[in-house]
Amino acid sequence: MNKLSIRDLALSGKRVFIRVDFNVPLENGTVSDDTRIRETLPTLRLAIERGARLVLASHLGRPKGKVDPKYSLQPVVTRLREFLGRQVDFASDCVGLDAEAKSNLLKNGEVLLLENVRFHPEEEKNDADFSKRLSMLCDQLFVCDAFGSAHRAHASVVGIAKYVKQAAAGLLMEKELAYLGKAISNPERPFVAVLGGAKVSDKIEVVQNLMKLADAMLIGGAMAYTFLKSQGKPVGKSLVEDDKLELAKGLLEQARSRNFRLLLPVDQVIAESPESTATKTVDIAAMPDGWMGLDVGPKTVEFFGKEIAKARTIVWNGPLGMFEKRAFASGTLGIARSVAAATKSGATSIIGGGDSVAAVEQAGVAYQISHISTGGGASLEFLAGEILPGVEALTDKPGK
Ligand code: AMP
Repeated sequence: MNKLSIRDLALSGKRVFIRVDFNVPLENGTVSDDTRIRETLPTLRLAIERGARLVLASHLGRPKGKVDPKYSLQPVVTRLREFLGRQVDFASDCVGLDAEAKSNLLKNGEVLLLENVRFHPEEEKNDADFSKRLSMLCDQLFVCDAFGSAHRAHASVVGIAKYVKQAAAGLLMEKELAYLGKAISNPERPFVAVLGGAKVSDKIEVVQNLMKLADAMLIGGAMAYTFLKSQGKPVGKSLVEDDKLELAKGLLEQARSRNFRLLLPVDQVIAESPESTATKTVDIAAMPDGWMGLDVGPKTVEFFGKEIAKARTIVWNGPLGMFEKRAFASGTLGIARSVAAATKSGATSIIGGGDSVAAVEQAGVAYQISHISTGGGASLEFLAGEILPGVEALTDKPGK
């Protein structure tokens, strides 16, 4: 990576503004899943060890630019104190006198958490004045560890970088970029991409970019039905984006003409509605009218599994069926197990997107995956070949 790392900064005695991703789920005022907090601890611990004075900022939920106690970051303080084993102060606003005074009182190794940056509409507008006010809480040092927000040009992610001397990547950000960057720039081959989920339209750019970079692409989930319909296959009532049929057809033709292995399901689990548990497993060509495809079938799991077993790099985003429902989860869980097994045999596996992450957790194989990305949207944009604004905003390494 040609951007400064937190490891390059002289942190001792300095207030450093660290943009983290504490967008955690809350239940009854407490943090119900602290994964995102844990992911950023290496960065926080490094800053503490080096004697920095930490000013932490994050968004939580979508308060739409208004103060809404439901989205307060206050519940994170308790968990953060437990993890860091030290006092964590809290400022009830992310800008202004209270935050400034509290940041000025910090001693080396002390931590201040700011209230939700999205309580201000200026955050999402990347407002210059607001960015400047955020920067006043630090001594010209900004660290971005919020990979999950790096695709957003917001004030605490992008705008602030202009008003500091050095803007560097945190350790989590570096790790994310290292894994995803290697996959798209210098992957060990064969490189197999597995894509699923609801809509082709969300993933067109990813499909197009990965078709240039990968050796094979396995498509499942509802998005497969747009491709299947474009080939004239019967799809019954399956979710199809009719306005994307031409595009899907074009991608399949492109794949054929380039001898690219773009593989679609060969069988499916179908039902008359997603609510029904009366399911049937049939070949793709045998879809009856009035039924819908809600999961890939066992033949597909085996067929895709063989490709995955041969891979040395695997990128997976999106479930292969409506896996939230037990009746339609086998395909996705089967693929999760194949990806884990391939990783055990030496492949590098990268999983992004909340659903695929939930699937590897449900299959009990999350610990076997090489890298579980903390940013669904950000990882998709990165895989689509886009430059993430939150990365672009960081300071280049000297001489680069
Ligand atoms: P995405 O956010 O695009 O990754 O889509 C995830 C959603 O796609 C999940 O909620 C799945 O239930 C849904 N999904 C996956 N496959 C199917 C399918 N065959 N039919 C309907 N929904 C599906």
